[in-house]
Amino acid sequence: MNIQFLPNKIPVGISRCAVGDPVRYNGSHKHSKVCTQLLGNCFELQAYCPEVAIGLGVPRPPIHLIVSDRLRAVGRDDTNIDVTEDLESYADEIGPEVELLRGFILMQKSPSCGVRTTPHYKEDGRAVLAHSAGLFAARLRENFPHLPMEEAGRLNASDIRENFLTRVFAYDAWSRYVSDDPRPARVIEFYTAYKYLLLAHSQPLTRALGQFVSNSRAVSTEDFASEVRGRIMEILSLLASRKDRTNALMHSQGHLKGYLNKEERAELAQLIEEYRQGHKPISAVLTMLRHYLPRSPHHFIHSQVLLAAEPAELGLCEFR
Ligand code: SF4
Repeated sequence: MNIQFLPNKIPVGISRCAVGDPVRYNGSHKHSKVCTQLLGNCFELQAYCPEVAIGLGVPRPPIHLIVSDRLRAVGRDDTNIDVTEDLESYADEIGPEVELLRGFILMQKSPSCGVRTTPHYKEDGRAVLAHSAGLFAARLRENFPHLPMEEAGRLNASDIRENFLTRVFAYDAWSRYVSDDPRPARVIEFYTAYKYLLLAHSQPLTRALGQFVSNSRAVSTEDFASEVRGRIMEILSLLASRKDRTNALMHSQGHLKGYLNKEERAELAQLIEEYRQGHKPISAVLTMLRHYLPRSPHHFIHSQVLLAAEPAELGLCEFR
């Protein structure tokens, strides 16, 4: 399986206030240029505002989350307002549309849209007990547990942006290569193509996934595909460390060794070492690996997504 990234834009959901629509409770917006201008180059952004969609107007009384009989979205100043079930039902309602999305960018700290930074208050609204997801985002996560989700503000950081892009590309590739034909052989082919990229994110979790994949007969076809996709998305959600990336690059180098002369081998090894020490960007190593790639007749190394174009090469984040 040679996984290709498509030249056309990938559909990704986004909170409406992040694209500049003045839909916040006070009639303002929180335009994220990183989302609309930078990521808009490769994402077709589809905007949603759950609070407007459930009929709260603009402007509207602000709501917040309180820990009561359960987590509830109530008016900050008027606790008679309770839109808990409305927000969750809206997330269910747009399920068929979310099915077609490959990721979701959500506004941080919002009682509806936050993914991890929304304050959960005590019932009297005074002390913050925890920071976690808003109700719309939490229901999206429940309905689509593998869908890449990220907060708009966090995408200003290059490494988090790169990580989100990697997850969206993987989720999209799975939808194109496996979803319609989830036979174990197909799933294993997908895992194999992602193997070195996964190693760059977590060696122990990738090894555990490898063991699970080799026991594919132990579970039903559907459960096997779902478990593998879940684990792939979980591993990719971890930021790739320099140490793990170096390890994955060395594995790739090992496949090409036999086709390089002594000087070429030494030059490649030196470059990987310089990357490990932080003196060279990963792009330098990838460029050299790709240069030697045609010499290998082995499909395995040609199929590796790690060696395909990176988000950084699309100009969407910086090289590290
Ligand atoms: S955070 Fe979500 S609910 Fe609040 S204004 Fe933005 S899109 Fe609407």
